[in-house]
Amino acid sequence: MTYGAIREQLAGELTAIEEAGLFKRERQITTPQSAHIGTTQGPALNFCANNYLGLADHPDVVAAARKALDDWGFGMASVRFICGTQTQHRELEREIAQFSGTDDAILFPSCFDANGGIFEVLMGPEDAIISDALNHASIIDGVRLSKAQRYRYSNRDMADLRSQLEAARDADARRILIVTDGVFSMDGYYATLVEICDLAEEFGAMVMVDDSHAVGFVGEHGRGTHEHCGVFDGVTNRVDIITGTLGKALGGGSGGYVAAHQEIVDLLKQRARPYLFSNAVAPSIVAGSRAALAIARDSSEQRERLKHNAALFRSLMTEAGFDLLPGSHPIVPVMFPGEDGARRATEIADAMLTRGVYVIAFSFPVVPRGQARIRVQLSAAHTDDDIRTCVDAFVASRDEVG
Ligand SMILES: *Cc1c(COP(=O)(O)O)cnc(C)c1O
Repeated sequence: MTYGAIREQLAGELTAIEEAGLFKRERQITTPQSAHIGTTQGPALNFCANNYLGLADHPDVVAAARKALDDWGFGMASVRFICGTQTQHRELEREIAQFSGTDDAILFPSCFDANGGIFEVLMGPEDAIISDALNHASIIDGVRLSKAQRYRYSNRDMADLRSQLEAARDADARRILIVTDGVFSMDGYYATLVEICDLAEEFGAMVMVDDSHAVGFVGEHGRGTHEHCGVFDGVTNRVDIITGTLGKALGGGSGGYVAAHQEIVDLLKQRARPYLFSNAVAPSIVAGSRAALAIARDSSEQRERLKHNAALFRSLMTEAGFDLLPGSHPIVPVMFPGEDGARRATEIADAMLTRGVYVIAFSFPVVPRGQARIRVQLSAAHTDDDIRTCVDAFVASRDEVG
């Protein structure tokens, strides 16, 4: 077949995406990532980044990355096990483990890769993986890559989790692994880790938490959802495996990790394919991420600011009559329920951008039908004035769209 025929097929797929209203257009930013950004369509207040602690352009993080270019060079040009491990890679892994309350940690090129690599290594055909229905795409793909038996439970439904555990036990699974996001990114809801750890104990299962939307800022010391839920008290940690990203709160550069028991980390270093066959994280990213982690670990300033910002936004929006999903997380879904919701959410988000406030609307199939929303993400980089500007833009855009 020549490309001519294939071109037509692909063009047809693109048209179908467009006609379904699902075509993603990228807005181009002309500045560093921050609360106030420039775009090719003018300046904007940014309320849709995962820059929770405002560290993406923090001077200490940038300075550490810049210095690393001089001290450590630009690239590694090697996977970790050949000649791609600098002393700072191991330092970062130890620091992540210490912060997470685990024996050790292993860096991956991304958290997508961490989740892509782990299941195949740990879970074989005689094992069972029990996964929350709303888990991140990378967990779904990683589970698919393993030969383990698969079970799924409804989002945060502990009765269903129990049923699935019973099914796995009845099927004589050798090892059982419960896997959940720490925070569900479309809702800002936390996993119910006390109940999950209790069930795991009862059934002799392991617990894995993907804490990408939590590490650095959730919990009293920012150590994650396990700290927030009280299954990690700084010493005892009831979660066996934590995956996370350096691409969100911790500077937002790139890279991901698995923090876990020693044997799990050691085995992943031997067998995890994205670790063995993909380039080591770049030196400047390692150095910048270490600086970001140090800020998250040693100072509560950004965390307190973020908490204040999320609470302020939630209270002003509620006062203005908007329908929010309840909670405390800096992911704040502003709901537009019903038949007409998807259109209203999209039009309001567009109207807000013309007022210089950048937010994103989500509708089916990303979220359930009839539950369209604008997902607002607060950052420690926002000021009270930024938040009031955002709320004012919501009110004015609602009035305009009707
Ligand atoms: C963002 C995210 C990832 C992917 O992280 P990357 O490091 O960008 O690949 C994985 N899991 C969850 C839950 C996420 O939110």
